[in-house]
Amino acid sequence: MKNHLVIYNTLTRTKEKFEPLNEGMVGLYVCGPTVYSDVHLGNCRTFISFDLIYRYLLHSGFKVRYVRNITDAGHLEGDRDEGDDKFEKKAKLEQLEPMEIVQKYTLGFHDVMREFNALPPSIEPTATGHICEQIEMVKQIISNGYAYEVNGTVYFDVEKYNKEFPYGQLTNRQLDDLIANTRELSGQDEKRGRLDFALWIKVKPEQIMRWPSPWGWGFPGWHIECSAMSSKYLGDTFDIHGGGMDLQATHHTNEIAQSQACNHKAPVKYWMHTNMLTVNGVRMSKTAGNGFLPGELFTGDHPLLEKGYSPMGVRFFMMQTHYRSTLDFSNEALQASEKGYARLMASIKTLENLKASARSTSDIKEIEKNCYDAMNDDFNTPILIANLFEASRIINSVNDNKETITGEDIISLKKLMHEFVFDVLGLKTETSNTASDKALQGVMEIILEIRKEIKARKDFAASDKLRDDLSKNNIIIKDTKDGSVWTIQE
Ligand code: AMP
Ligand code: ZN
Repeated sequence: MKNHLVIYNTLTRTKEKFEPLNEGMVGLYVCGPTVYSDVHLGNCRTFISFDLIYRYLLHSGFKVRYVRNITDAGHLEGDRDEGDDKFEKKAKLEQLEPMEIVQKYTLGFHDVMREFNALPPSIEPTATGHICEQIEMVKQIISNGYAYEVNGTVYFDVEKYNKEFPYGQLTNRQLDDLIANTRELSGQDEKRGRLDFALWIKVKPEQIMRWPSPWGWGFPGWHIECSAMSSKYLGDTFDIHGGGMDLQATHHTNEIAQSQACNHKAPVKYWMHTNMLTVNGVRMSKTAGNGFLPGELFTGDHPLLEKGYSPMGVRFFMMQTHYRSTLDFSNEALQASEKGYARLMASIKTLENLKASARSTSDIKEIEKNCYDAMNDDFNTPILIANLFEASRIINSVNDNKETITGEDIISLKKLMHEFVFDVLGLKTETSNTASDKALQGVMEIILEIRKEIKARKDFAASDKLRDDLSKNNIIIKDTKDGSVWTIQE
């Protein structure tokens, strides 16, 4: 199974057969959040996509070391070493220590990931916990001749690097083209070249987050942390590096340059990038003002939201689009996903009480093959889900006595549904906690008990009437050998 996996590699812009560097093992690195504010739903899309990828690699039998970092230092507002430090700025605003900001938003991020049923990574290293490694790396890049120091700040020399290695490889751009699209240097700039970027930054007198280095007190540039931490935990060359598409042009391009300049090796075999979550076609971001938070989504407390949506409904919504396509948020799409998720879950419940027959009218092996083919084709979740819906349709047809299935196929179907729905897609049964749902649950238990008594008195006309009246209100009663069960028809 695992031998057939094909992954779209951003570096080569083609789908490639996945062949890990070490048989049976995968090293996976994903750029984690910058913990200076709450993660919005767009950030979540990227992390949930990689959770799916991690889950499927595990399901395929690989031993995966999944490293997802926490950026807790060194991220300036601008991508090109300009603007304030995000942590220092937020700390002033909230009147907290920068590390209080880090703690607050790291905990918040973990809560959100738990809500979405995302598995924790194997290692979650922080930038502040790896300052020594970053300094060592910068020293090595300087000694290899690809970086220079000016007044306590160290810059990477892009033009020198590009003489030997194609700097714009990840986005398929030539250096001249990149230079032409970058702001000209002013008299104040310390950099030698327009594309040069900081590896280590001299601290301003008022800054709290600071560390000693061979170049004086300062803090690491944003990109160096990922190069240092990925090579520390996964080696100088590892299998998969991921992140959102917006990281391709600068952060990941610079990561490749740093690692190559330091270790004389290309750091990554397969680069994977997730596409953006958009709202009415505009990328979700804090600055665009359309970045609602998962908490707001769950409660519905945001002007863009018609109602609250459950975490599993939202996860299912994300899974219905391939990770490399944009996903546009809309209330209609989310409501349709909620229904789809409920339908899938209801069929898994129905599957528990399905009656076996001598022969199957559907080919369950074919559906199983289709599910694996979809996932092995660059994690194609929309096609996987279409096949799971086909399985649901069969389950319901058998339950309505329109089709038949063998006992052996019931076992295969249970395995298939459980593995793909729970283990791979990462969905789980959601017990609703709203007061009205709990009340309905209680009322239905009372009604089913009354109906049981009516049936015990052999008043079948009354028990059928009760069932039919409930059905007119979309509550479907089904009598099984273990008693009556009810579901809501969507
Ligand atoms: P940040 O915390 O800003 O470093 O971002 C964390 C991750 O979220 C990165 O991998 C970004 O590429 C990703 N990201 C940011 N905005 C979006 C979006 N609208 N849709 C999908 N991913 C996003
Ligand atoms: Zn990174």
